[in-house]
Amino acid sequence: MVKIKSLRRSGRPGFCVCYDSFLQNESEHCMNARILSGTEIRNQIFAELKDEVRLLTSAGVRPGLAAVLVGENPASQLYVKSKIAACEELGLASALITPPATANMLEMLAVVEDLNRDNNVDGILVQLPLPPQIDTKRILEAVDPAKDVDGFHPVNLGRLVSGRPGLVACTPLGCLEILRRNNIQIEGANAVVLGRSDIVGKPMALLLMHANATVTICHSKTRDLRDVVRRADIIVAAMGKAGYVEADWIKPGATVIDVGTNRVTDPAEAARLFQNFPERLEKFRAKGSALVGDVHPDALNIACALTPVPGGVGPMTITMLMSNTVKAARLRRASPRFSATQSSGRAR
Ligand code: NAP
Repeated sequence: MVKIKSLRRSGRPGFCVCYDSFLQNESEHCMNARILSGTEIRNQIFAELKDEVRLLTSAGVRPGLAAVLVGENPASQLYVKSKIAACEELGLASALITPPATANMLEMLAVVEDLNRDNNVDGILVQLPLPPQIDTKRILEAVDPAKDVDGFHPVNLGRLVSGRPGLVACTPLGCLEILRRNNIQIEGANAVVLGRSDIVGKPMALLLMHANATVTICHSKTRDLRDVVRRADIIVAAMGKAGYVEADWIKPGATVIDVGTNRVTDPAEAARLFQNFPERLEKFRAKGSALVGDVHPDALNIACALTPVPGGVGPMTITMLMSNTVKAARLRRASPRFSATQSSGRAR
């Protein structure tokens, strides 16, 4: 059974969840989580990348990202716009290729092939989703693994499995960066990853395993999820289910990385999620929607450290895309293959 009482700490309203079994040492278990801000880490990494881009550019290597945006999906347009804006902020070259929504497989493969051959392009980003007539896997596998800055290519996934250097998917890489830059102990920790998608859950579990955590991967068929989560020192939630992980599933003192980005529009659901956050409930009422993670907001007063939604993992995805592009430029342009293509006159 969970008991909730009102508290006010650090000048902001809060509440504290205590378990019957912990009541003797209540004060030890009642805490406000440290907020792991992705926005702050983004700013740190951008500052580092700016220096690196300046150095590379002065050595004649200006890293470049090419974005392929098919059709006119407004959400995709917005994502690509932010990625191009990030390139501009960092001094990276960028190019936008916009095939029509009616593009066929051959045309799409030709676009990717052109970018693979273009020596000014270090990173290729194919914005998903692609139209239904396009075989997404085939397009992603057509991208040169050395330019696969999304880290989706099976060659890069294989490198991750075997612990060899390569390009790693941006969102899980961003989660690891949040843990590392906040000095969260990974080695020896029990880490539970909720979700097993190719772009988040699986690479996240591999990254944590390589960092010497003991990793459990959960999915929709996992039994007794609450008990599994309850044993975790580190929880990475990537399910796409608003506030699904309840506060009383979390071991007091655990670190929570909340990847979920769910738009809530149902007032009853908002009331369930924000009952202890009147300001958020008020904002929801004014706007008619709110972004919520996969972890119930009440986790704030149980976990030791936690990424907010928004402002946690979200800003890290574009950040790691930029970091991967600079890394790809460094690795590719230092490779013998690059020198060979330059001398064969293919560079523009
Ligand atoms: P996805 O491909 O839909 O995968 C969801 C995973 O969660 C699946 O493995 C699924 O299990 C598991 N799952 C679903 N319901 C579950 C339940 N009740 N209990 C346990 N596991 C459950 O999603 P995704 O692409 O990985 O994204 C996950 C979330 O992260 C979404 O909210 C997405 O918007 C967000 N996201 C955010 C960013 C960012 O930049 N912040 C980037 C990427 C994704 P099965 O495999 O059994 O179906």
